[in-house]
Amino acid sequence: MVNLDSLIFPSQCILCGDKGVENRDLCAACYLELPRNSPRCYRCASDFDAPHSQTAICPTCLKNSPAFDETFAPFVHHRAIRYLILQLKFHRHYPSARLLGGLLADYLQKTAELPDCIIPVPLHKNRYRERGFNQSIEIARVLAKKLQLPLDLNSCSRHRDTAHQVGLTGEERNNNMRNAFSVSPKFKAQHVALVDDVMTTGSTVHDLAMALKTAGCHRIQVWVCAKAQ
Ligand SMILES: [Zn+2]
Ligand SMILES: [Zn+2]
Repeated sequence: MVNLDSLIFPSQCILCGDKGVENRDLCAACYLELPRNSPRCYRCASDFDAPHSQTAICPTCLKNSPAFDETFAPFVHHRAIRYLILQLKFHRHYPSARLLGGLLADYLQKTAELPDCIIPVPLHKNRYRERGFNQSIEIARVLAKKLQLPLDLNSCSRHRDTAHQVGLTGEERNNNMRNAFSVSPKFKAQHVALVDDVMTTGSTVHDLAMALKTAGCHRIQVWVCAKAQ
């Protein structure tokens, strides 16, 4: 069937202005240029020199396993993907959320076992008020619609207003994040996916996953557009 929207509003590449393909705001050439991740660690999506299998676990996760079980990160935080994330985060450019969410959904459809619900990483209410916007929620809305999964915006909250993470070392970030999240006592899901725009050290999603596992959740996936290497 002809999609009327695509006739009335033909898709156009956000990056170069050419005609979009597959109903995405991205052209074929820019699609091919996207900086893809080649994760070797099943758990944290880091690229490391794994001699054996695709599902190997990296030395960092082996030594100190994070509280989440798997990470899906189709891209690295470079070039066009970094640009789209910045457009969304700092300019509330909703077409970037639609494009990033659509690309992530296509990847997940091929690779992930879908969970009971998806939970965007919450911002503390002060931070949310200051910014007026949570980019993770916008990406998660696209995923929920495309993958037909419930979006849970109420079960988890960030009860500590953590300082800005820029300029902190990995260890300082860990301390800064400790016990930053709480989970509603009514929370029942056994298998969830946490959604964020980009994963850097993984300490934020680790903290949230820890709170969810304490609340009885068994399996936690992390879904991010990009892994920062
Ligand atoms: Zn293009
Ligand atoms: Zn790892």
